[in-house]
Amino acid sequence: MNDRTEASSAAAPEAASGNASGAATRVLVLNSGSSSVKYQLLDMAGGAGTVTGGRGALLASGLVERIGEGPVADHAAALRQAAGELADRGLGLDSPRLAAVGHRVVHGGTRFTEPTLVTDEVLAEIEKLVPLAPLHNPANITGIRVARELRPDLPQVAVFDTAFHATIPEHAARYAIDTATADAYGIRRYGFHGTSHSYVSRATAALLGRDPDQVNTIVLHLGNGASASAVRGGVCVETSMGLTPLEGLVMGTRSGDLDPAVIFHLVREAGMPAEEVDTLLNKRSGLLGLCGDNDMREIGRRMAEGDDAARLAFEVYVHRLRKYVGAYTAVLGRVDAVAFTAGVGENSVAVRQAALSGLTALGIEIDPVRNALRGGGARLVSADSSRVAVAVVPTDEELEIAAQAYELVGAVPG
Ligand code: AMP
Repeated sequence: MNDRTEASSAAAPEAASGNASGAATRVLVLNSGSSSVKYQLLDMAGGAGTVTGGRGALLASGLVERIGEGPVADHAAALRQAAGELADRGLGLDSPRLAAVGHRVVHGGTRFTEPTLVTDEVLAEIEKLVPLAPLHNPANITGIRVARELRPDLPQVAVFDTAFHATIPEHAARYAIDTATADAYGIRRYGFHGTSHSYVSRATAALLGRDPDQVNTIVLHLGNGASASAVRGGVCVETSMGLTPLEGLVMGTRSGDLDPAVIFHLVREAGMPAEEVDTLLNKRSGLLGLCGDNDMREIGRRMAEGDDAARLAFEVYVHRLRKYVGAYTAVLGRVDAVAFTAGVGENSVAVRQAALSGLTALGIEIDPVRNALRGGGARLVSADSSRVAVAVVPTDEELEIAAQAYELVGAVPG
């Protein structure tokens, strides 16, 4: 599934791109988080289609961390450092071969449901969404601003984490609260990780040798953040994250679903200010809250040593996952595939096994031997007798962002 090759030779970057024509086929993808900037430079000369036939050649990638501490004072400094690293490899941002910068933007609200060319008006609209994503959108906005300053002539494309979920029907998007209040404050279920759910659902169809519009898939994106989605014929109809990424599955440090009255109880009985409850549920809950570790590898090690807290954390995590698989089976009616992706989904044999064992009644039979095989690419881990295909599909959000940005700006003939 991953056809990209890293060009390690800084001496021959043009040759490494596989595109000697000089056309503008490169896309810089920026993922600006609160304290880090991740970047990838990809050459999309093979075409914008990521899953079926197209290729994105990875020319360079990097991570600038600890923004705000030490030498990297702010996002502007981080981006300048990234630009410098690329220039050192002969891949500077002044290159005429750069077609666009693709930015991951976490929250697009109801306004942005497609990749969008950034203008002043678009930036102002993304700014208005900050109350919905106070931890994420400000950093994304800064990334866009600085990239625009570095190359004002270059198209900047915003790709939204919420966009793929814009198709979920109103009855799934609505919380059952007072409608006027909900509408006044934009309270509804938006969903996140959309770029990954979109990519993985299509890659799963490709693995099965079928068109995406023929396949119903439950995608389980299990990273440090985690979310499930139900995708019917390529269209997302349900997802587990909501107004914010806090709802749904148990995550590394987030609680996922809980009775909202827990919050009132903490405010009233424990005297916690709202901000502290926010931090508790987002940063000190989930696997970390349950057992003190948020890394599934460490939890696995502790379980092997007979650690009860680690075992319970694992069981709470897996139980929630099974509930969502069952619920989404009912939502879809017919399920063709369950696809695991992201750090835990791609690597944890134990989570996949525990989440799907004993579900023969739902047509899901995981094969323990296939599941235990380590492999790089997209692969099936279901038994031959399983009605539902179970797949492990490595996600590639950067490639998907690059493809969407490239598609939007259109290939420049070389
Ligand atoms: P992501 O957010 O997709 O980068 O996923 C990060 C998480 O993946 C980590 O916090 C780990 O819990 C988990 N992870 C990464 N590698 C493994 C592995 N080999 N086995 C189990 N979990 C893993």
